[in-house]
Amino acid sequence: MSLKKIFLSEPHLGGEEIHFIHEAFDTNWIGSLGPHVTAFEQELAKYTGAAATSCVSSGTAAIHLALILAGVERGDEVICSTFTFAASANPIVYQGAIPVFIDSESSTWNMDPDLLEHAIKDRIAKGRKPKAVILVHLYGMPAHLDRILPICQKYDIPLIEDAAEALGSKFNQQQVGTFGLMGIISFNGNKIITTSSGGALLSNNAELCRKATFLATQARDNFPYYHHTHIGYNYRMSNVLAGIGRGQLKVIDQRVEARREIFNFYKSFFKSFEGVTLLEEPDDRFFSNHWLTTILLEPNITKITPDILRMALEKENIESRPLWKPMHMQPIFRDCPAYVNGVSEKLFQQGLCLPSSSSLTTDDLERIAYCIGHVFKNV
Ligand SMILES: *Cc1c(COP(=O)(O)O)cnc(C)c1O
Repeated sequence: MSLKKIFLSEPHLGGEEIHFIHEAFDTNWIGSLGPHVTAFEQELAKYTGAAATSCVSSGTAAIHLALILAGVERGDEVICSTFTFAASANPIVYQGAIPVFIDSESSTWNMDPDLLEHAIKDRIAKGRKPKAVILVHLYGMPAHLDRILPICQKYDIPLIEDAAEALGSKFNQQQVGTFGLMGIISFNGNKIITTSSGGALLSNNAELCRKATFLATQARDNFPYYHHTHIGYNYRMSNVLAGIGRGQLKVIDQRVEARREIFNFYKSFFKSFEGVTLLEEPDDRFFSNHWLTTILLEPNITKITPDILRMALEKENIESRPLWKPMHMQPIFRDCPAYVNGVSEKLFQQGLCLPSSSSLTTDDLERIAYCIGHVFKNV
């Protein structure tokens, strides 16, 4: 008999979601738009502190809309973190634009501000001033906004924050995703809260969210008949899914707390392991939701590769995963300009994401710890 599967990050319902879904069914608001969408957008604005939000079908759709609203067009260049999931960069290509990738710095694993400024200067010198910057807060860790925001302002380039993994994370007490011109979050099933699938665009400029909603609903101009002055998209969130989101948002603080406790469990567990480090908040300006706890193995010391550990966990029905493979190393983005320093490549080689679901029990965590301890004992 094999033990219950432990997933990397699984949905964790709060209990109230079904009540909101029933309400949608009872009132026959099953389609897109509807009262749950409006309410969820308001509740999300309240929670994040953004002036407005627009709920859409995915985080990827939100990035696409943000790029359109930032004026990105065919042939333009858009700067993007290289250490991320492909969904951060793909919408640049949907627009016919060219991603320019920037490597990480080692304290937050996010975009290196010095490399960003170097790249902006270099692109400008080549007559290719970037149209936007997509900054990712990976694994829930806020990037160095204190440095990156002023650089974007200095060169007058709109900042789009990809906070898909970082709902509930803060920098200087302010929610990430609300620093730039626009921010995006994801409610995919593996994220800290979920609508099964979905996403949102945040902005302190309510007009941008209004425009995002317009584009996401097929860009129908305000006429009794169908009249179009823009190319539209079918990106709107359904009322049923917004109901799930409303239920999930009620428990977001508990979910953040649980993931932070899981991080603390791993941190104290690994204290006695030489050559193992975790992605930690660099100082107290940074508050991470610790969506995933991630470790780095120094193979000269541990004599264990991330792959050995991953396969040992797999054998015990425990899911772990390598860190994101940087975009500049992806075959599909091979020809894109990239400003690299080796940091993300090293992270990819030496890192591992550990199970971090907010629903993990103490028994689950002990089981994971026991398995990891066993691997290290037997080298
Ligand atoms: C999940 C994710 C996205 C995409 O969100 P979807 O809702 O799955 O489209 C974008 N960027 C990052 C960093 C993500 O982790």
